[in-house]
Amino acid sequence: MKRITVIIPFLNEEPVIEKMYERLKQLAEECPDYRFDFLFVNDGSEDQSLRIILKLRNYDQRVSIVDLSRNYGKEIAMLAGFDHAKGDAAVVIDSDLQQPPELIKEMIEWWEKGYEDVYAIRKERKGESFIKKWTSACYYRILQKASRTNIYANAGDFRLLDRKAVDALKMIREHERYTKGLYGWIGFKKKELYYDADERAGGTTKWRFSSLFNLAMNGITSYTTLPLKITTIIGGVVSLAAFIYMMIVLVQTLLLGADVSGYPSLMIGILFLGGLQLISLGIIGEYLGRVFNETKRRPLYFVDTYYDSESPETSKPI
Ligand code: UDP
Ligand code: MG
Repeated sequence: MKRITVIIPFLNEEPVIEKMYERLKQLAEECPDYRFDFLFVNDGSEDQSLRIILKLRNYDQRVSIVDLSRNYGKEIAMLAGFDHAKGDAAVVIDSDLQQPPELIKEMIEWWEKGYEDVYAIRKERKGESFIKKWTSACYYRILQKASRTNIYANAGDFRLLDRKAVDALKMIREHERYTKGLYGWIGFKKKELYYDADERAGGTTKWRFSSLFNLAMNGITSYTTLPLKITTIIGGVVSLAAFIYMMIVLVQTLLLGADVSGYPSLMIGILFLGGLQLISLGIIGEYLGRVFNETKRRPLYFVDTYYDSESPETSKPI
């Protein structure tokens, strides 16, 4: 019997986590040909959600839990899930029921047809402002062009990955992870499915603007050095313009005897160049910051306790 591990990273999902489990349980009943296990990754929740799952574990031996030592963010929580997944395939799904677990059935069908990465694309983004949709569309277009990896705007982390793809993702130990890009980078045979995203079943979104901004920056700095090239080009263009301007001023003063106009052009030049220099320094800094973080070679996460489904009595610390 083929085994499928469902990875559910969660952070403070007390209102929804049990509903999530119920839906997964139902799904497992509808697919009797597969052996399911549910791997919940607790990403430093401060509410009762971990306790709820621990209780479920008393009745259901398919439930295992990786309890991380603190909040590491969803990207790392997913990696912890991949590291502990034992199935022939792994499915990543959010804990808030925005993604319909029933779609997993269809994913499995495609997996059986030989696809190694079956991912779900949101048809429509409900409840999001026009500005958010537009900025996100622009962002993905730029990222895709610049990185030459396929990163799909509305394809999130809801996907089924074959063991081969899971092992590949496990080998990539980047700190500032941008998993959305990694799926494209590792390759393998892909298939897309479409779904209607639902509203959150309860609780609130865990994303703040700052974390979205950081993720967006990570996306760019981990897949392309194009910003560095652009600053070089801008530097070249500005120098050329300055040279031409110098020639014009020289001709004007030496041949035509015009007064050198001073203050305004001077200020514009200084401020413009100063701004450009700060931006380029910032861009270099972003990359340098990444290099700094990677060179520390710290482990990506620590596990507080690993509650393994195969040894229900003992909880084995890692
Ligand atoms: N999540 C997590 N760690 C975090 C932030 C989020 O494990 O630091 C989980 C969260 O519990 C949920 C999933 O990631 O299961 C997606 O988060 P959310 O629904 O808040 O994001 P959105 O759907 O609004 O993009
Ligand atoms: Mg959500």
